[in-house]
This record gives sequence, C-alpha cells and structure tokens, in this order.
Amino acid sequence: MKLKAYGGKILIINLDKKKTTTKKLDALFARKWLGGRGFNIKFLYEYVPKGTNALSPENIIIISNGPLDGTRAPSSGRFTISAKSPLTGGVGYANSGGHFGAEMKYAGYDSILIFGRSNEPIYLFIDDDRVEFRSAKHIWGKDTRDTDHIIKEEIGDEDIQILYIGPAGEHVVRYAAVMTSLYRAAARTGMGAVMGSKNLKAIAIRGTGYVEVAMPEKFEEYIDEIIPRIYEDPAFPLLSGTGTPFLLDLAYKGGGLSTKNHQFGIIENFDRISSDVFASKYKIRDKACFACPIRCGKVSRVSNGKFGGTKTGGPEYESIVCLGTKCGITDYPTIIYANDLCNRLGLDTISTGDTIAFAMECYEKGILTKDDTDGVELTWGNGDALIEMIRKIAYRDGFGDVLADGVRIASKRIGRGAEKYALHVKGMEVPSYDVRTAKGFGLGWATATRGADHLAALPNFELLGYPPEKGLEWFGNEKTVDPYAWEGKPYLVYWHENFAAVVDSAEMCKYTCFSAYAVKPQDLAIFISYAVGWDMDEKEIMLIGERIFNLERIFNLREGIGRKHDALPKRFTDEPLPSGPGKGQIVEIDKMLPEYYRIRCWDWETGIPKYDKINELGLEKEFKKSGLKGR
Ligand code: SF4
Repeated sequence: MKLKAYGGKILIINLDKKKTTTKKLDALFARKWLGGRGFNIKFLYEYVPKGTNALSPENIIIISNGPLDGTRAPSSGRFTISAKSPLTGGVGYANSGGHFGAEMKYAGYDSILIFGRSNEPIYLFIDDDRVEFRSAKHIWGKDTRDTDHIIKEEIGDEDIQILYIGPAGEHVVRYAAVMTSLYRAAARTGMGAVMGSKNLKAIAIRGTGYVEVAMPEKFEEYIDEIIPRIYEDPAFPLLSGTGTPFLLDLAYKGGGLSTKNHQFGIIENFDRISSDVFASKYKIRDKACFACPIRCGKVSRVSNGKFGGTKTGGPEYESIVCLGTKCGITDYPTIIYANDLCNRLGLDTISTGDTIAFAMECYEKGILTKDDTDGVELTWGNGDALIEMIRKIAYRDGFGDVLADGVRIASKRIGRGAEKYALHVKGMEVPSYDVRTAKGFGLGWATATRGADHLAALPNFELLGYPPEKGLEWFGNEKTVDPYAWEGKPYLVYWHENFAAVVDSAEMCKYTCFSAYAVKPQDLAIFISYAVGWDMDEKEIMLIGERIFNLERIFNLREGIGRKHDALPKRFTDEPLPSGPGKGQIVEIDKMLPEYYRIRCWDWETGIPKYDKINELGLEKEFKKSGLKGR
C-alpha cells in the first residue's frame, strides 16, 4: 500500500541511454531517512563510488522533496538537490524554495535520480508519468530568465515548474547554482556545474495529482495552531516586511558586518546600506514560496541611473554582504544589478562575491596587478570591476577562469601568498556574518559537512537577545544566548545541526523552525505523524537528523575529508577584529571542537564516528561499506 503523504515513486533517469524507470518508495526506507536531504545522502552514498570525479558521468544528481511537500503545512514546498560537490570534493547539496518540490509531489515522485551524461544539450520534461528528453541546443547559452520563458512557451504552460542552469553551469563554474521560479536558487556546492557537466540544461515538471494525508482533520487543525505562532514570532514582521536584509542592522550592531573580505566587522557609510534604505527605496513587493505565510522573498527595482530598469528577486542579506560590503560596496543599485546578473548567469552569490573579494584583497596586497586581471582594477568599492568579473567568471573568460574554480583552487594557481586571503572551509567560501561575533556560527562553519555553511546549524538562538535563563533552560548553559561567548556552543551547534538536517528532509523552511523556533522538533514530529500516519516523537525526529548528518560525515571521510578539515581560516581564529563592537574577538575553535567531538561521539584523532554512535544510529551497513577503521 502506498504511504500517505509521499508521492510513492522514485524516478530513475539514464541520460546516456535516454531511458527511465521507476521504483516504489519503501516504507522502512522512508521512515529511516524521511525525505529531501535524508533520501539524497542515502542515494548518494549508495550510488557514487569513492573517488568519483564530481564532473564525470559517474556522479549522479538527486532531487528529493519531503513528506510535507504539497500540503498546506507552512513553508513546506521545498526540495533538495544533491551530488558529489565539484567545489569541495565531498557531499554537495543545496536546498531551495519556490514551487518545484510541491509540483514534483503532485507528479507522484519523492526523488528523481539522474545518471550518466547526455551526448548533447537536453532538457527533461516530466509530465506526470511521461518523461521526454528534449533538445536544449537552442537554449544552451541562454540565461536563466530566457530559459524559463522559452521552456514555458514551448510546453504551452505558464504554471509549469522548472529547474535550470545559466551559462555558469554550462561552463562548469564550480559554484554554479541551480535556479527555479526565476529568483530562487539552490545555490551552494556547485550543483549547477554538475548539471552542466551532464549537458542537462533544465528539468521541467508538471503534476496533476494531489497529496493525501493520513489524518486530514488533525493535520489541518495543527496547521491552524502553528500559523498564529509563526505570526507571533518576533522575527515574523521583519522577515515579512523587509525580508532577510533586516539582518544587516543586526550584523552591524553586533560588529559582524563582514567588510573587505572580512578584514573588518563594520563599514563606513552604513547608512547607505541599512535595511531601511532597501525597504524604502528599492523593495517593490513580496514573493512567497509554496504555502508560506512568512513571505520573506522580496522583489526590488532600481528606478533610475546607470542600472535603472533593473527588476529582480532579492537581494537577500547574504547577497548584499557578499556582493556588497565584502567588496567594499555600499551602493544598492550596483548590488541589485550584480545580484540580478548572478541569478541570470546562474551563480551562487555567496561564493561569487567572496571570490571577487578575495581577488580584491590580493590586489590590495600587490599579489595581483592589472596584468593578471585582464586590466580590471580590482579595488575596494569598484562596482564596475565587480560586474565585469561576474561576467568573466560565468564564461570562464580570461582571469575569470581562475576565479571560476573558487578561492581554494584560485589561490593555489595565483600563488605568491594568496592562500592567506582565501577564506573557505573544506573548499567552500564563507557566508556573510563575521563569526568572530557569533561563535556558534563559527563552530557550525567548521563542522558543516558541505563546507563553510551558515545553514547547516543556523544556531540563531545565540543572536536573538534571549535572557540567560532561557539559555540555561533550553541548552543547559546561560552563555548560549551570548554571541561573543564560546561556552555551551558545542551542544548548541550539535542540537541545531541535527534539527536542521531533519528540517531539510521534511522540506520545511528553516525560517519557520529556526528564526524564533515557532516549529520545534516535537511539532515536526506531530506534523509528520498526522501526515503519514506514523507515531513519531521528538526523540525519533532528532535521531533521524543525527543519522543524516553522520552519513554525510562518513561520505566525506571516505573521500579523505575529516578531522583536519574541521577548521576555520586563520583570519577568524588568529586575527582579532580590529574595530567596532566586536573589537578584539576571535573564534575560540580550539576550545569548542574537542567538546563538540565528545558530544558527537567522534574519535578526536581521526574524526570517525565511534562504533557506539554508529550502532545507535543504525549505520552499521553503511559504515562497513566505507572501509573506515572505527574504534
Ligand atoms: S520564509 Fe522565505 S525562503 Fe522560507 S519558504 Fe517562506 S518565502 Fe520561501
């Protein structure tokens, strides 16, 4: 019998043979891995052999939704796309909103697995049970906006949901994004490059089915109970009103507004870039993902001047910092245009901005000159240089080819001491908030399985201004509410990483679960129980998250990414912030990491999960297959 709330089928696509098959979703498998990110790591681990080149046909792409996708559960229409990452060489995944995840469920699929490589550019059209392999020769080279338009016109359906890559993915830029709904990005770890390496331009999907939940009345009642909690969340008016740019003010006040490749935590002329400026001058409307009451997505427009007429989704807080302040830029029209360019070309705005900021610091230090950069003056605050370099990266043109591989590889190619300014963890560029002023986030960057990742843990608890008693009550330590403190953060991060993994597998938005914890693990357990008909509790939910996180860890360990890679760039551990409210702060990673390993039950010398933990999580078979030696 088909499991309630799930689509019930796994679609397997072979690009070499242009053949498809389906298999039934197994109920035990679903309960063990839940969906989304959980399904993906299990498939990735099973089907991608150790040492596989991430850009070879042997890598696979997996797209999964979750048990809540397609229902009215708040902000639950997301999906995760995974593959081995060409940026880190380890586990790669990116999660996005929009409407694709729900549409996939309506077509009857929980996961889509894509094997092999097409011998010419194609796109897939999945129309319920029917799958067409269509030529994409005429759209190869087009940006994501044109691609969206052309495919919708060809299929004759404006409501069809599509994932696509831009020129950056076609040129296998190692941090190319997969875009959907025009402005939504599955941005991190280079999933767009993997699609490009397979000559796969887009995946269009149409589903005409529906989702049947096990206990519809209870399920609907619970939604009605949760939605007011979301509205009462103190972050709700900020996310709903200004959107994620409200975080600019928080970062600036805390001294963590990353500036000039993280040399500083505050910027001059902040009044030009505060969230008020964005909201009053550039934001024109909201844009929500499927079933989302928060509506954090914003559409912005530049009315006049050099970039007049630019209208785009975002920019999000992360994009404003990485394309803006990290490059010394505080001019909104430039940032909005650069953000739009990244969306159209299909680039991760975090890695793109970081890579250019890295090059700007190399330029400042005399490591790079105009002779190296095709004549582009990579000076701080130079918006024209930013835009020129974004184009060069997407097309791997000249010096852009060096930067298209990310800061880790680029710094090695440049040499002359450039590695000192390449800020990454496990090969992935660092996000926005300066973690010297948010120590839990710092630890989370170091331990995240996909590299420097603010979303793997998202320990917002330390930033929300809660009283110390709440820290004691929730996480056993009063200091967990203090962003400058390191004490108590190992457990805080452990808890958040496990919860985040399961939220990514249920495919609910993290803003619902993490901004002020409107949906807690016990709520997720109830939602899933009413949807599927299981009897889940908080303990089982958190165990699933821990299992997923540990299998990602084992995948990385198998690829040689382990203990020594759980580290931060020296800028965050050895260079105190020079000014602002965070003056003098560093991340005390050496104090946090041993405690974190102890809580995780990982061997301190090797970073390998101990047998007790492997057994507790039911990962014996997977661990045996890894060839790792445990204790
Ligand atoms: S909160 Fe924002 S990102 Fe999350 S689902 Fe809603 S609109 Fe999308």
